[in-house]
Amino acid sequence: MQEKIKVKISVNADLCISCGVCTAIHNKAFKYSEKTGKYIVTEEYKEITVTKKELDLLKQTAESCPVLAIKIEQVK
Ligand code: SF4
Repeated sequence: MQEKIKVKISVNADLCISCGVCTAIHNKAFKYSEKTGKYIVTEEYKEITVTKKELDLLKQTAESCPVLAIKIEQVK
């Protein structure tokens, strides 16, 4: 059975420069907010249980953010 990992994902709006890289890599987890002009985490992904493979893609997305505004916290 695939290991499941619960995570909380957030974007620091003060750091985000709205480059769109996060959405280009993972458009289910991140989207543009017309309201703030910044990129945000989708409702579904704010707190989600994922497989190791899915977590790796999320981590890869976070590492690709040029200002490292994406935070992924593992929830016990
Ligand atoms: S990759 Fe980072 S800086 Fe670029 S839009 Fe996403 S959160 Fe903002």
